Amino acid sequence: MTIREHFQRLIKRVSYIVTAGALLVFILIEFRYPNLTKPRRLAIAFFSGLPLALLLWVFFRWRCKCPRCRADYGKMRRQQLGRFSQDRRMYWELWDACPNCGVRFDEPFSTSADGRSI
Ligand SMILES: [Zn+2]
Repeated sequence: MTIREHFQRLIKRVSYIVTAGALLVFILIEFRYPNLTKPRRLAIAFFSGLPLALLLWVFFRWRCKCPRCRADYGKMRRQQLGRFSQDRRMYWELWDACPNCGVRFDEPFSTSADGRSI
């Protein structure tokens, strides 16, 4: 598996978890509070989804680092595009290699400098 494929798989898994989590929250609220108005149900869904979203954000920040030099891709992306950029491309679509150490995203994921995978 290449580094690019690793990150693509990671984001696919995160999107599955987010979709499943959102569905679960909506189903639970439907059964738990069937008599609430729609705006109230949406408000409850929003606030119960916040901790999950925060956890996912922390997880994603932790995992989206260069497997070789541990450079923070999120930070480098913000420096390049700006914090409020409308560009939705991911790191492996923006660059072909790590901007910090130059490891190519086509290289196998497990061959980091110290030989361990993350
Ligand atoms: Zn790197």
